Amino acid sequence: MYYQGLINKYRAFLPVSDKTPVITLNEGNTPLIKAEKLAEKIGADFEIYLKFDGCNPTGSFKDRGMTLAVSKAKESGSGAIICASTGNTSASAAAYGAKAGLKTFVIVPDGLVAPSKLSQALMYGAEIISVQGSFDRAFDFVKQICEKYPITLVNSLNQNRIEGQKTGAFEIIEALDDAPDYHFVPVGNAGNMAAYWKGYKEFFDLNKSKKLPEMIGIQAKGCAPIVEGRIIENPDTLATAIRVGNPASWQSALKAKDESNGAIDCVSDEEIISAYKLIASSEGVFAEPSSASSVAGMIKLKNQIKSGSKVICVLTGNGLKDSDSALKFANSKIKKCPANIDEILKVMDI
Ligand SMILES: *Cc1c(COP(=O)(O)O)cnc(C)c1O
Repeated sequence: MYYQGLINKYRAFLPVSDKTPVITLNEGNTPLIKAEKLAEKIGADFEIYLKFDGCNPTGSFKDRGMTLAVSKAKESGSGAIICASTGNTSASAAAYGAKAGLKTFVIVPDGLVAPSKLSQALMYGAEIISVQGSFDRAFDFVKQICEKYPITLVNSLNQNRIEGQKTGAFEIIEALDDAPDYHFVPVGNAGNMAAYWKGYKEFFDLNKSKKLPEMIGIQAKGCAPIVEGRIIENPDTLATAIRVGNPASWQSALKAKDESNGAIDCVSDEEIISAYKLIASSEGVFAEPSSASSVAGMIKLKNQIKSGSKVICVLTGNGLKDSDSALKFANSKIKKCPANIDEILKVMDI
């Protein structure tokens, strides 16, 4: 059957009606990849699955929430949408905004967004406003603007974003015929952790799964407000997509952790880069550094994972989003060589 996006697939579980215009790029339905080589390399006695949400139309899981947030904005007659963004929300909002014919405003922290993400938002035709300071500051401006003007906020404070994103859990349950035992997810503004937990609970309540996973949120050490229990004024991590010092869904993430008997932990930039390289070189899966924090967290906590269990690591964004990091950290290097077969063979060393 022709797949037509997650609103059409999961209509019964989402706040839509026949009157809701469906703005879709056929998002969702992303690969769940069994990572056997990775498990072997880290000596895991459990099954690891990578939910590669970087395969969404704009290259991140943000599309899951954006299809619904923008469809509902359109239904309500809104003429414009706005978000603050560490990059991926802006790309996603701009794409769905273009598709819906809505004016899209994006406020980003100057110099802290990977250029590829900005290039997407520019191509889709968004108005990009780059301001000095952190994501949190950009987000404050956006909230002030939304209080005064009839522009729809499409950050994850918008509950429709969470509703759309919960479908990631539905897909995992359908693929595994049950919920996993552990669910590792990167935590920035913390909406995704809350959304996955909502999805797992809803399908559990409908008897579509027999258990619930432990939810384990992973922050970056230089920006771990929930782990440290305080707002981080000057976040510092190369994982720019989770560089959020005062997460909007802080309380929902804590609730997901507590209700699921899970944890919220943090990993260093070195651990993130090591996981980033490991999943690419051992599994052929190229995810951006922030995404790899879920895998880094799983590696850090692997001794606490029960043997034989099923473990999900969500890979939130595509590696192509941040090719600068790849070129900087990849073990392989480009070898320049004169255009001569003998020289080439010498370099190949075969
Ligand atoms: C937005 C984003 C995150 C953080 O998600 P939250 O819902 O804000 O916690 C993590 N990774 C990537 C790649 C993202 O784009």
